[in-house]
Amino acid sequence: MTEAEERTELGLTGWGQSAKGHELPNAAGKWLRREIGWTPRPTQAKELASVTTAATRLTDASSAALIEILGADHVRTDGPSRLRRGAGRSYLDLIRRRGGDVSGLPDAVVLPGSHNEVLAVLGRCVDDDIAVMPFGGGTSVVGGLAGGAGGHRAVIALDVARLKDVSSIDAKSLLVTAGPGLRGPEFETRMARYGLTLGHFPQSYEFATLGGYAATRSAGQASTGYGRFDELVAGARLATPVGSWQVRRPPCSAAGPDLLGLVLGSEGIFGVITDLTLRVRPAPEAKHYEGWSFRSLPRALEGLRQLARAELLPDIVRLSDTDETRANIAFTGGSKATALQALLRARGHGGGCLLIAGWEGEADAVGVRRRAASSLLRRCEAVRLGRSVGQSWLSNRYSGPYLRDALLDVGLLVETLETAASWTDLGEVHDATRDALIESLSTSEAKPLVMCHVSHVYPTGASLYFTVLADRDDDRPLQQWLLAKRAATDALLSTGGVLTHHHAVGIDHAPWLSREIGDLGIAVLHAVKDRLDPTGICNPCVLFGRP
Ligand SMILES: Cc1cc2nc3c(=O)[nH]c(=O)nc-3n(C[C@H](O)[C@H](O)[C@H](O)COP(=O)(O)OP(=O)(O)OC[C@H]3O[C@@H](n4cnc5c(N)ncnc54)[C@H](O)[C@@H]3O)c2cc1C
Repeated sequence: MTEAEERTELGLTGWGQSAKGHELPNAAGKWLRREIGWTPRPTQAKELASVTTAATRLTDASSAALIEILGADHVRTDGPSRLRRGAGRSYLDLIRRRGGDVSGLPDAVVLPGSHNEVLAVLGRCVDDDIAVMPFGGGTSVVGGLAGGAGGHRAVIALDVARLKDVSSIDAKSLLVTAGPGLRGPEFETRMARYGLTLGHFPQSYEFATLGGYAATRSAGQASTGYGRFDELVAGARLATPVGSWQVRRPPCSAAGPDLLGLVLGSEGIFGVITDLTLRVRPAPEAKHYEGWSFRSLPRALEGLRQLARAELLPDIVRLSDTDETRANIAFTGGSKATALQALLRARGHGGGCLLIAGWEGEADAVGVRRRAASSLLRRCEAVRLGRSVGQSWLSNRYSGPYLRDALLDVGLLVETLETAASWTDLGEVHDATRDALIESLSTSEAKPLVMCHVSHVYPTGASLYFTVLADRDDDRPLQQWLLAKRAATDALLSTGGVLTHHHAVGIDHAPWLSREIGDLGIAVLHAVKDRLDPTGICNPCVLFGRP
């Protein structure tokens, strides 16, 4: 990796290299103090550059063999390289890191430059009993990079950063084959040259990679319209310990069960995704984002259900519940927030729910779809708030993770969790999850702020994305969140929610996986793993949990 590439890496204890001016505004800080009864206090992250990392467990013979395959530049055992690939970006990861805990690092980082080099690395790791953890952008929020050696002699991070080729562009069929190491902006920039787009914009877009999206079945902010990442994959190549496995499905096939489904969401347990064939679209000629408001969450969910049923869903749908709407307005602050509050009160929507709706595509089609959706929204008693609300969401769509760093710096617990449910269960899942989080995180002096939005809408239901802010328990910060997460997960599963809508399983969700897919489902996954990875070196512990 070049020096310039190193500089654009995620920070070791936060998002990006600097806070980028995303400090908590004074007015928002005051509002939060009133809401959750928290006292701001400086809780800066420890400087990690000087922390001593454990010695590598890689033997000289294994190192020499890997260097022979990849070259000395692409096998690294230095502390900074291992630190950079040694954790994801969940609250638990960040709190450990911020406190100076650098345990569980990979013993080495390897950077293969081709599919065949990945195969050769896997072969050597089988011989030497070394676990292999594929590493994309490092943005996992479910402990996907925290598996460790899982009983093997050592573990290496296999960073796909050099696998960035766009090897074919079939503009006629709208299919592009590309390497897993491309980050969102890199791929979109390449596509823009041909007037194409993938349309995948998760909040982690700046750093996450194509391979990571596929391995975790990611969903982006525009996935209601463009489709989730797993719907955009038309083929994949996997390097496994027993050889190459190519799976394709364009445009469609009835040749037995869909094996591509085994690769998508596999989180590195079957091998390394080294190529993806993706469905792209012509870049949109027009984009239109606007704000709407509903009087209450039940009315808003009914409005979205009606849109889905009439096949009039916008491409971007983000519906905030009452608490998230209040927080959005408080964080916006200033004259814009005052004007919006006045407008909402005048329409009887003072304690209501904000909806961001966005349409993309050919200008005429955008106009037609928007007008049809708007008239249905009005019939559902929604009020149009105009384009400035939509534009304001658009310009801040990637700033949340930077603000999270600022909130962690002043003693707050900040974390998210997500699920999805049918229209029938959605309201109950929302209320039960929210109540469980509030109960778990409340103390005699402080009460958490639990916010939620619907981020993706389907014909049969929708996803729910919760953001939690609470006074951090400085003595037991990890335990505090683990208890809340357990309570929330039990609540959402028992009311009909899914374990995860787009964050994947990793280590953190592994204890609940059998509740979602059943013991037989777990046994099927084990059988596939035994066939593709007989010695179990590929991301041991992820999905199945630590033995
Ligand atoms: C601030 C923030 C916002 C986020 N927003 C979203 C969002 O809007 N939507 C969403 O879906 N997710 C989101 N996430 C979660 C995360 O970004 C996604 O899971 C993303 O898909 C991970 O991609 P990555 O390249 O960073 O993968 P990594 O974190 O590097 O890896 C994730 C898992 O996949 C495995 N893996 C990675 N690459 C490969 C490969 N080539 N072959 C096999 N296995 C591989 C890893 O071993 C690991 O288990 C967010 C995370 C953060 C921190």
